[in-house]
Amino acid sequence: METKHYKTCSVCNIQKEATNEYFSKNGKCLNVKCKECSKEYSRLYHIANKERINKRQAAVKKEATDNLSDYYLKMKIKSDLGIVKHDDIPQELIELKRKQLKLHRYVRKEKIKNRKNK
Ligand SMILES: [Zn+2]
Repeated sequence: METKHYKTCSVCNIQKEATNEYFSKNGKCLNVKCKECSKEYSRLYHIANKERINKRQAAVKKEATDNLSDYYLKMKIKSDLGIVKHDDIPQELIELKRKQLKLHRYVRKEKIKNRKNK
């Protein structure tokens, strides 16, 4: 018979089975907070830091968009082709997508420029 190990959550103080089902893994060890408490914690954290998180996410997104990062391009390709996993996207396709987007941006810029000159 298998012996069950229990672990007490540091937040709600409820003893739960010391498995991945109740505690998320923190590297090799199980988290001190149970999954439910972790969820609640991150929910509250998000509420408390909403503005800061949003700002940070917007900055990260802007940088990825401006620099056409691999990650950004993978997201684009994913939504274009309906690929689920990032690993399925060959680097070649990413490079092509980068060229395509650069061309798009160039054309858009030129169009705006021409419109202004009229
Ligand atoms: Zn808990």
